[in-house]
Amino acid sequence: MKLSSDDYYERLHITRDASPDDIKKAYRKLAKQYHPDMNKENVKEATEKFKEISEAYEVLMDPDKRRIYDQYGKDGLKAQFGSQGFTWDQFTHASDVGDLFSDDFLRTVFSNFGGDDFFGGSSRRSGRSHAQIPRDLETAITISLKEVYTGTTKEITVVSKNVCNRCNGNGSEPGSVPKKCSTCNGSGEVKNVRSMGYSRFITISTCSDCNGSGKVIANKCSACHGSGSVQGKKTMSIKIEPGIEDGVVLRLPGEGEHTTEGSGDLYVSVHVLPDEKFRREGSDLYTEATINLKTAILGGNIDIITPGNIKTISLKIPPGTQPMSKFRFKGEGLPYWRSSIRKGDIYVTVNVKIPDNLTSRQKEFLQEFFNEYDSTNPVNKKKFLWGLI
Ligand SMILES: [Zn+2]
Ligand SMILES: [Zn+2]
Repeated sequence: MKLSSDDYYERLHITRDASPDDIKKAYRKLAKQYHPDMNKENVKEATEKFKEISEAYEVLMDPDKRRIYDQYGKDGLKAQFGSQGFTWDQFTHASDVGDLFSDDFLRTVFSNFGGDDFFGGSSRRSGRSHAQIPRDLETAITISLKEVYTGTTKEITVVSKNVCNRCNGNGSEPGSVPKKCSTCNGSGEVKNVRSMGYSRFITISTCSDCNGSGKVIANKCSACHGSGSVQGKKTMSIKIEPGIEDGVVLRLPGEGEHTTEGSGDLYVSVHVLPDEKFRREGSDLYTEATINLKTAILGGNIDIITPGNIKTISLKIPPGTQPMSKFRFKGEGLPYWRSSIRKGDIYVTVNVKIPDNLTSRQKEFLQEFFNEYDSTNPVNKKKFLWGLI
């Protein structure tokens, strides 16, 4: 996205004789265009654009500022905006786009450009030190067993600290130089002398006003209030490879906080939701299937549907299948993480549903059947003790 024109009218795509109504319409149209939801790939640039059109809007909506601008150009506005130009705290028309953006967005994204209290909430941070060590960030995502099976891409949004663009992280308003710390007179250290009787104790400690740098910011950066960093939202896609284990923590180097000292890492912990039908052990999947008595005795086929309805596999039940029999489907389980070839197995434990709603006629048939059956399979007394026929 290239930067906007230097001319305020061009920035808003309006002519020099545009009425306040035209200006407002043009501004709202562009504000929608630069909405972060419409610019997920480059929120930062879109926000920068938004700032530029807002600056133009601020000038052209104010009859006095517009007159000065028309007559003297941007130079004429220096007395209005200060030598550093427009800042958010000089923007008085937030309510004209308040309905287009969420409060949350306005606070989060616009704090990039600082300005105390731009949208009603105070975002001023005290932040004295700007030699900051970048912190690592943590977040978590949840995926289903189906996504473990196939792999997936997840979008995550992290709120992170970034180096302030305006001051490059040094906390000073562009053009202003830090001044000598008056507390330590530029030495970065403070001496504390205590007398006890005839002894004097001298303690030397780091000056807390300048954090030992010997310098203090004379003119705080208007975007970060001197802290050197701003809060920003970042959305990124994370590729989850098939077969990932529950509880794995992925490390994304350099995606943590950004400070002048460098970048932290982002740690994403992956949680796999329990599945209704399958229990997972490594890459193997365990499930249960219930068959009827007829199938158990005479044999038949049942369908096993893999997680996420990805595949149906047919399980052949041989005649005389006992309850709790286990069947294994080799290579139908989950892929091994980071292996394109190996896959686990699916184990199916078969339950047998014993009919419990027989009519008396059906019971008679069965009795007849068992009379016949027992005559060909005499009851083994020993086994009988264990309840077998
Ligand atoms: Zn700054
Ligand atoms: Zn100091």
